[in-house]
Amino acid sequence: MAYVSGKEMIQRAWENGYSIGAFSAHNAETIRAILKGAQEEQAPIMIQVGQKVISVMGLQEMKDMIDTFMRDITAPVCIHLDHSRQFEQTMAAARAGFHSLMFDGSGYAFEDNVRITKAVADVAHALGVGCEGEIGKIGGTEDDITVDEADAMITTVEEAQEFASRTTVDYLAISVGTAHGVYKSEPKLAFERIKEIKEIVKKPLVLHGGSGVPDEQVQEAIRLGVAKVNVDTELRQAFTYGVQEIWAKDPEEFVLATSMGRGEEVMKEKVIEKIRIFGSSGKAADFK
Ligand SMILES: [Zn+2]
Repeated sequence: MAYVSGKEMIQRAWENGYSIGAFSAHNAETIRAILKGAQEEQAPIMIQVGQKVISVMGLQEMKDMIDTFMRDITAPVCIHLDHSRQFEQTMAAARAGFHSLMFDGSGYAFEDNVRITKAVADVAHALGVGCEGEIGKIGGTEDDITVDEADAMITTVEEAQEFASRTTVDYLAISVGTAHGVYKSEPKLAFERIKEIKEIVKKPLVLHGGSGVPDEQVQEAIRLGVAKVNVDTELRQAFTYGVQEIWAKDPEEFVLATSMGRGEEVMKEKVIEKIRIFGSSGKAADFK
């Protein structure tokens, strides 16, 4: 097994000008798709456990399943808790052995977001794992929470600076024009704001809603200081298309290993495509 702390992983990517792909897992096959993609590319990656899968499968169960499939993996991997909105859950993930914890207090008042995120960061740092906070609201639907496009705000430099310094988070999710889920029109990232925030905050930035953003825009954001790009929707689409391909040919193909296996294969190719776009292919060598 080759587990790495989120703090170390993101910091190293940031210093070397590439981004870690943070890929969401939902079941055994999607865990394997992510880990095999990382292994084939010899890329450091984060495997994200989000709120939906926690409510369905359980947090400890996901951790145990990832551990099982990690046996043959030598690429650096970090297990990340995505979008937790409960302090207690972040602590449960810490106890379960996650290597990176995100508390998303963007739905709280600023002072409450600062207070709870700081408490999570203190524990994360004591344990030597990474901590992510979020400032500014990212549009779209993540798990069961929907933020209206109109409510999604571009994070200001001032709030990013105050939030980052008071919470001591290791990496910071900002709202710069991306949204969770499927885009209705082509997104346009606020590059100038990414640059301004990076210059003042001097910490790695995290781009949520990475699915469907044109590759050149993602690469420009990475050049400007983003070192973690979250991808979920595009991977779920890839997996589903793979399964549908089998059932389109034969609706009575009841061997799940065949349909799910094809889903895994198609998703793995998407993971590899993203790793190459993010510049992290072959970067396992940075962690030797
Ligand atoms: Zn997100």
